[in-house]
Amino acid sequence: MHITSRRGAGLVVTARSGERAAYDVVVVGAGPVGLTVALLLADRGVSVCVLEARTTPEQAGSKALCMQRETLEIWHSIGIGERVAERGTAWSVGRTYFQDTELFSVTLPGSSGEHFPPFVNISQSEVEQALVRRAMAHEHLTIHYGQTVVEVEQSDGSVTLVGAPTPRPSYEGSADDHVPQADEANPGGGRQITGRYGVAADGARSQVRKLLDIDFPGHSHGDRFLIADIRAEMPFPAERRFWFDPPFNPGRTVLIHPQPDGIWRIDWQVPGDFDLEAERDSGRLEHRIRQIVGAVDYEEVWLTVYRFHQRCADRWRQGRIFLAGDAAHLMSPFGARGLNSGVADAANLAWKLGHVLAGEAPESLLDSYSHERLAAAQENLAVTDETMRFMAPPADFRAERDAILRASITDPEARAAVNSGRLATPMVYVEGIFPAHRPGDPELVGTVLVDARTEDGSRLRQRLTSAGGRWLAVTVGARSPEAPEGVVAVADNSGAVRASYAPDGRARTYLIRPDGYVAACTEPTRDAVRTAWLAGTGVQR
Ligand SMILES: Cc1cc2nc3c(=O)[nH]c(=O)nc-3n(C[C@H](O)[C@H](O)[C@H](O)COP(=O)(O)OP(=O)(O)OC[C@H]3O[C@@H](n4cnc5c(N)ncnc54)[C@H](O)[C@@H]3O)c2cc1C
Repeated sequence: MHITSRRGAGLVVTARSGERAAYDVVVVGAGPVGLTVALLLADRGVSVCVLEARTTPEQAGSKALCMQRETLEIWHSIGIGERVAERGTAWSVGRTYFQDTELFSVTLPGSSGEHFPPFVNISQSEVEQALVRRAMAHEHLTIHYGQTVVEVEQSDGSVTLVGAPTPRPSYEGSADDHVPQADEANPGGGRQITGRYGVAADGARSQVRKLLDIDFPGHSHGDRFLIADIRAEMPFPAERRFWFDPPFNPGRTVLIHPQPDGIWRIDWQVPGDFDLEAERDSGRLEHRIRQIVGAVDYEEVWLTVYRFHQRCADRWRQGRIFLAGDAAHLMSPFGARGLNSGVADAANLAWKLGHVLAGEAPESLLDSYSHERLAAAQENLAVTDETMRFMAPPADFRAERDAILRASITDPEARAAVNSGRLATPMVYVEGIFPAHRPGDPELVGTVLVDARTEDGSRLRQRLTSAGGRWLAVTVGARSPEAPEGVVAVADNSGAVRASYAPDGRARTYLIRPDGYVAACTEPTRDAVRTAWLAGTGVQR
């Protein structure tokens, strides 16, 4: 039996059956999340087809610009992390001001074992172009631009995504030869692509989510944000700076971030009825920018107005289709949790799909994707809700919020209550597939691995990348026990590894999943490692 979801037609049951899946996975959306999941899968030898509505990749705009260390590590494993980190502007200090007074600064913790800085700033469009180049060159990956998915069909063994051609805008060309253009092999035609699984990474307005009739409850903020990439020589160091009620945006907030090539990202909180064209025509936009850049020359690189939303899909899986990234969750960007958590969705889903497609794990493993990532989205939404409540307080909290800000100039207790964004950190999983097997070390199980230099001079993270989609069994203080076939055994006693993984000197083995998460800590014996691995892959619970 086939279930068809068609734009404007609700669910339709048809009789088509028996068609062979052309690809293992079809991804809808070539944004950062869709391309990351596609590349992670393709690197495992999974055949992937991506359908993208736009006719070319995004050419401009910072959008999500703060890339977290863990995101860089995931991108490193698909070959672009180093390049993104080198191009990006590293920063580790964030300052918060009330009017003209600096309230506090936060320095993000570094670590001698980590390869990448805590955050680098780089425009999302530049990252997308790096991902696209990589994807275009990949033997297991096909991308069709200019295909808007309008219909979804599912059967017991496959999913079919039906694209309609996106009207092609006049394209002005790009300096980059590798940038693809609309679906030239199929001009004017829609494509119908079949796969064994589908991933809907088609962003906030996800057509696939709507076609599947999945609700997206939550709320939208009243105020909007004017966001701009401005190139100017400004005497600011590479730091995040956030103002409450500054003289240059009274009663509201401003955030400034450095980017490469002398570009600054500026976010002004503006009223809900803000009109960009009226602002420009009246000269107020020029005045607004001048209040920040001063008298120096500046260039407007990108400018838009953006409303923030707090929403989460109530289901992340329907049959053989999974939601990921903004299609599954939307949150205000203060704390850099949107794109970064979307990339974590991609990493979580990719290894599970890879295992199931290779016959190494049961279908039921795929359910743990929603459990784990929905919990992450809920945590991110709770954190960003708190931030937005403080930044744009509702009427019944405004007086209290203002009193906290005034008091915080002198009172450290009040200062601690000031919320200008809690920066993203990787999710710690305490539920889902983990609780069954965390006998050894509850501190580390469920967390992303702490990177550390190993005896051979490489890093644990590098070892994981070299494992090519398999798990790592890291044994400290003993010889490696024999590992199951899908697991690469590493024994290491370097000071850095011991300090992080066996500070008490007790011998043990950690099982690290392909997405970098510590799945178990066991006795360093063949049977214990095998049992934990079978539990972690869902083969035996
Ligand atoms: C103006 C703006 C500013 C932002 N600023 C920030 C910020 O400062 N910090 C932050 O953390 N986040 C920010 N975000 C959010 C951030 O950009 C997203 O979290 C991120 O893009 C999510 O990636 P994604 O791949 O899930 O979705 P997207 O990047 O939205 O990609 C989805 C892709 O799917 C394609 N698509 C859509 N529908 C279809 C269809 N029917 N068929 C085929 N393809 C389709 C789209 O064309 C798009 O390429 C901003 C977003 C916007 C729009």
